[in-house]
Amino acid sequence: MSYDSENIFAKILRGEIPCDKVYENDHALAFNDIGPQAPVHVLIIPKGEYVSSSDFSATASDAELAGFLRAIHAVAEKTGVLESGYRLIANAGEDGHQEVPHFHVHLVGGRRIGRMIQRAD
Ligand code: AMP
Repeated sequence: MSYDSENIFAKILRGEIPCDKVYENDHALAFNDIGPQAPVHVLIIPKGEYVSSSDFSATASDAELAGFLRAIHAVAEKTGVLESGYRLIANAGEDGHQEVPHFHVHLVGGRRIGRMIQRAD
């Protein structure tokens, strides 16, 4: 799947639409999800054009990979969930219910999140 530079996160990265920024480094941006599903619900995205977690893992540079992972830690620290715990979610493709085709990780916490996978039926 080729990268769609008109996706909503690409527009956020270009500053065309605003976001509620939580953290930023050279390779990643983190902002609050517009439809939070927990008291803490932050999206962490790489600044490069990567469609999915596989795309990012397979093709990003070591510096981008490191910057992204360190951003996740910084967000957990900044949002105060390091001790209480949190969950990272990366949806990919149709079965994974990925809505925005720019790789992102959801960091959710601030309450008991419950079991990992909810039954769809
Ligand atoms: P996913 O299903 O993993 O692709 O999730 C996409 C997420 O992006 C959803 O949780 C949306 O609420 C969130 N989202 C969509 N548009 C925006 C936006 N403009 N700012 C912040 N979060 C957004």
